[in-house]
Order: sequence, then structure tokens, then C-alpha cells
Amino acid sequence: MSTTSFNVADIFGENVFNDTVMKERLPKNIYKELRRVIDEGAELRLEVADVVANAMKDWAIEKGATHYTHWFQPLTGVTAEKHDSFISAPKANGKILMEFSGKELIKGEPDASSFPSGGLRATFEARGYTAWDCTSPAFVRQDAAGATLCIPTAFCSYTGEALDKKTPLLRSMEAINTQALRIIKLFGNTTSKRVIPSVGPEQEYFLVDKAKYLQRKDLIFTGRTLFGAMPPKGQELDDHYFGSIRERIAAFMKDVNVELWKLGVSAKTQHNEVAPAQHELAPIYAQANIAVDNNQLTMEMLKKVAGRHGMVCLLHEKPFAGVNGSGKHNNWSITTDDGINLLEPGKTPHENVQFLLVLTAIMAAVDKHADLLREAAGNPGNDHRLGANEAPPAIISVFLGEQLGDVVAQLISTGEATSSKQGGRLNTGVSTLPNLVKDATDRNRTSPFAFTGNKFEFRMVGSSDSVASPNIVLNTIVAEQFCEIADELEKAEDFDMAVHDLIKKLATDHQRIIFNGNGYADEWVAEAERRGLPNLKSMVDAIPALTTEKAIQVFEKFGVFTSAELKSRAEIQYEAYAKALNIEAKAMIDIASKQIIPAVIKFTTSLSASINGVRAAVADADVSVQTQMLKESSQLLADTQSSLVKLKDLMTKTDSFNTEKDLAIFFKDEVKPAMDALRAPVDRLEMIVDKDMWPMPSYGDLIFEV
Ligand code: ADP
Ligand code: MG
Repeated sequence: MSTTSFNVADIFGENVFNDTVMKERLPKNIYKELRRVIDEGAELRLEVADVVANAMKDWAIEKGATHYTHWFQPLTGVTAEKHDSFISAPKANGKILMEFSGKELIKGEPDASSFPSGGLRATFEARGYTAWDCTSPAFVRQDAAGATLCIPTAFCSYTGEALDKKTPLLRSMEAINTQALRIIKLFGNTTSKRVIPSVGPEQEYFLVDKAKYLQRKDLIFTGRTLFGAMPPKGQELDDHYFGSIRERIAAFMKDVNVELWKLGVSAKTQHNEVAPAQHELAPIYAQANIAVDNNQLTMEMLKKVAGRHGMVCLLHEKPFAGVNGSGKHNNWSITTDDGINLLEPGKTPHENVQFLLVLTAIMAAVDKHADLLREAAGNPGNDHRLGANEAPPAIISVFLGEQLGDVVAQLISTGEATSSKQGGRLNTGVSTLPNLVKDATDRNRTSPFAFTGNKFEFRMVGSSDSVASPNIVLNTIVAEQFCEIADELEKAEDFDMAVHDLIKKLATDHQRIIFNGNGYADEWVAEAERRGLPNLKSMVDAIPALTTEKAIQVFEKFGVFTSAELKSRAEIQYEAYAKALNIEAKAMIDIASKQIIPAVIKFTTSLSASINGVRAAVADADVSVQTQMLKESSQLLADTQSSLVKLKDLMTKTDSFNTEKDLAIFFKDEVKPAMDALRAPVDRLEMIVDKDMWPMPSYGDLIFEV
């Protein structure tokens, strides 16, 4: 593909069973009925599913497909699939047919016993079902396994509990749809039929050379470096951010785009990120569940295509200490089926009452459930970003910007907003440059939840995480607020007066969540504490947010999670943390014992040989350099050994905990500091030991030589 030219419009969506294909290949009445199912949530009849399945199969076979799979998103965080071929049982004449029934399309039954369920099912109750999500189009994926028809599905247990991230996401989309429709109806909108959350996730990632990657056991086992001294140069020159893209990377990005376009993923923006070897890809936003599916595909594709280019794509949130980590900015808005964005302020937001109500509702929702939002961004890798030394704090606040901040301030102080600040014109002082119209508001890159024009951008999500969880939370908590508002306004005698009062009340009651300053400054941490905003530094601290009374109440009320599902998800989160740290600690022990300590011993041996050899040749020769290095490295070697012993000792205790929670806390409070203590002398040794003797590529080799 890299040498031939192509037209993007021709290849876009060529492997997707999209609306155009459906229209072409389905009988008119079937197409119409399927559209009703997709657009209005009508029930899907088996007869219809049969016809759709057959058309889908024929189409997929023309694309070379031999197999189909129900593609789902269990709670492991990655996607899962089990492939079945289309072949039927051989006939009497020994021939086979290619078959695919409606039943096979809409329902699958993977043996689900090995997926995390957080105690929802015992392993002997293994039945799990996948159900077709017809709102996210099926696609054919081509790879070394040939071509496979992939059917996006939701994954539930025998008793109907969600075992995946998609089911609650779809439930939350229904919740916000119902409640948002009530709100817009109050404002006289009778034409919109649905309200849909839209999501545009910006994906950050690192690329490293595959040959070097293979020499780093830490990257192989854990996705991040467990050791590594800072190179002489880091990101301080800011010369990588938006820098021109090197040939090797450009070729990779081109292939990724082509692969994604074929799958109907609208990869749009690409650039170098802050850290060396760090990049970003953003698609055009889509309806939330499709955006989540597309983001999973994007992560898969980044990895796959990197392999073809002799590189490895690191999606870990913090592959390298000391340089920027990777996140995923979750851009979110709510739009009606006829294209009205409820987060569009217009030119004069102070006059846009519906917008102000939606805005203050979101402020209230985020303030009430800041802990849930923070939890939704928690994963073991993200613990190295949120609340860690070099990254934003884990405090949720809302950035409104100058214009909206001013409108809300007017509302709070006088109950009335009478003006909106305007952006004006940008004066560059150069007559040949065009006169630009400025936005009314500058950006704030440090805010975790920022209003950016006509959407909110939730910036805490980890780069390797599914964006399902944050959107489940956002949709549900905003649905709750909309519901409260609609309950009140629907019975108001004087609607205008009631809206006016409500907006003022919401803005006033929840003003503590607004913060327009520098979110990275220490003062903010203190200020947030004074305001009573939660600062949950570790994902382990955030997990209890899932099962508070407040959380259970909101999720149950809108049918998004049952209390049992929430408890199981909390279990899974504790387990995920403990497992990740268990692997990291074991990898550290392995690498320190088998690679680093032996290398340092070789180095010290060569130093002492040098001292003895030089002395043998010239009795009074100056060997102070070697002696000094020998002393220093021997001391650090001793420190390494004693830290290693301590870590090993701690790891013998991991069997003695009764709950996943206690184990996770043990890893966070005891094991993690012991890992840091082991890393410290090793990183200093890396700066002393002969590079040829160091058993793995350095940070410099990894991030500057891709
Ligand atoms: P940034 O300048 O913030 O890095 P990008 O262009 O990289 O912006 O990404 C912005 C993302 O937000 C894109 O995925 C874009 O499609 C998405 N986006 C734009 N408008 C909306 C909207 N109304 N709702 C949701 N997402 C949106
Ligand atoms: Mg971006």
C-alpha cells in the first residue's frame, strides 16, 4: 500500500457492513426493519436476522472471509473473540456449504469461565452470552489469520449481569437519551427523536524499535520500563511536540491510517507528542459505543502495524519514568439525532438558557460524582500519572474558560447573566498575515475536565484503557442530573422563572468544582482540599467510589449497573491492580537477579583486574579512578542486593491476604515502595557501568533512536 496511490474516499469503510452496503444488499422491507431496530431500538425478529446474516456472510466471503467472530470487550480491558468458520457439516456428497444464520449473528455462547467476573459467577457456572450490538457496524478484519467477519457484541452472564464494558455503556446511553429528551422537550423541541452522546478519543502512544524492545524484559512483561536512568536529553527542549514527523514514523502512520480507514475508523489528526518517541492519533468523533469500538480497533491496529514496521507500540500510561506519560483525552458532547449539540453555547451564551441549564447540570453532576469519574480513569498504569510526582493531580475540577466562567460568575452573583465576553480579533502586528477571529476563550491544558468550545474534554483517561468506563459514568451522572431537573421543571407553574432559579442554584451550589487556574501547581492541591474536593491519589484509593451508597443509587436508578455488578467491578479492579504489580515486582526480581547484578559483578571484576594489572606493571601507578569507581559501584551493588532481598521477602507474603482489596493495598503501600528502592541504586549503576556491559538498551537508545 505504501507505494501505490489511492483515494481515501474509495477505501474508507470498504471493510464495513455499513448503511450503504445494507441498503444495497438487503431487500427493502428487511433494510427498513433493521434500520428501525438500529435507530429506534425496536425488537429484532429472527426472520429479519436470518436475512441480514445471510447477506452479511455473502458480503464477507467476497472479502475473503472464512470465519466469523463475536467481538466483545470483557473486563480484561482488551477485546476478545472466538472464531468459527462458516462451513456447515459435510453433505452426503462430501461437499460443504458456507452458512451463517440469524441466530448465530445475534447470539454467541463463548465459554466464559476464564474472563474476570469479580465473583459474579463461579467457574462452574461458565455460561456467558454475546449479543449483537447492531448499532455498531460489523466489519471484516484482514490479517495473517485471513479475513474474519467481526460482529460487535455485548457480553452477559447466564443471569443477565454485564460481564463487559459495552452492556453498561449501552444502558447509560439509553439513560441519558431518555432524560435529555425530557429536558429539550421542556424547551419546546418536539422534533428530535433521540439524544446521543458523542465521543472523540485522542490516543497517545510511544513507538520503540522492536530489536531493542526485545532486549528489555521489563517492556516485554509489563509494558513499561522498571529500570532506566534518564538520558542526557529528555523532553526539555520541547523539540518533539508537533515536530516534523520522521520518515519511519510517517510510513507507519500512513499504514495505520489506511488500515483504519478501511475499517471505517475516521483517523483524522496525527502528530508528535511532548515526549521523544511519543505520538498521537485522533479520529473524528462518533456516537459513544461506536467510538469505543473504534478506539479498541485503533489500539489493536497501532500494535499490529508497528510490528510490520519493525517497531513496537507501547500503550502503557508511563513506559518511561521522567518523561511524559500517555493518556487518552475523552471529548464528549450530547447531540440530538437531528444534529443539535446541547453543548453548543452559541455566540451569546448568556442568552442561551437551555445551554446554561445543561452546563450547570453537568457542573453539578461532576461535582457530586467526582470520585466516580476519577475511578473511571483508574488503571495500574495511570497510577504513574494521576497523583504521581510528575503528572497532574488526581483532583477532578471543571474548566469553563473566560467567557463561560464570566457568565457563570454573573449568574452566581446577581442571578442574571447579561453579557458574554467576545473573542475579538487577533492582532499579529504583521500586515501580510490574515486577521484572525479569536475564540472567546483560551485553552487550559492542565484541567482534567475542560470545556472546549462545544464539548467537554475529560483528560484523565489512561492511554491503554477502554474509554467505555468514563463514558458510562458521564452519561449516567448527567442523566441523573437531567432527571432531577426535569422532575422539578415539568411541574413548575412559571417555567421561565423556575429555570432561571434553578440555573442560579446549580451554579451556586456547585461553584467549588470550577477551577480555571494551573491544575499542576501545588497551590491547587491545597486549595482543592480547602474546597473539599476529593484527591484520590491511587486507583486503589478510588475503587471504593464504585460501591458507595450514592454510586449504587445512581447506577441502579438508571439501570446501568446493579449493586452486584458494581461490587464485582470493584473486585476486578483490586485484582487488576494486584496482578499488575505482582508481575512488575516479579519481573524486577528476575531482571535484577539474572541481568543486572551479574553485569555489575563483571564490571567490578574488570575494575579490580585493572587495578591489579596496572599495579603489577607500575608499582606506584595512580589507580585512584578505578578505585573510586570500584568503591562506588560495589556500594551500589550492595544496596541493590539488600533492596532485592527486601522485595523478595515482601513477595513471600502475598499469599496471606483474604481479600483482593487487602492484597491491592499491600502492593500499593509495601511492594511499590520496595520496587522504587530497588530501582534507585540500579539507575545510578547504569550511569557508572561500561555501556557495553549493561545488559539492556538505555532510555536514550529507546526513545531517541526509533
Ligand atoms: P486537541 O486540539 O484537543 O488535541 P484534536 O483535534 O486532537 O484536538 O482532538 C479533538 C477530538 O475531539 C477529535 O476526536 C474530535 O473529533 C473530537 N470532537 C470535536 N467536536 C466534538 C464534539 N462535539 N463532541 C465530541 N467530540 C468532539
Ligand atoms: Mg490532540
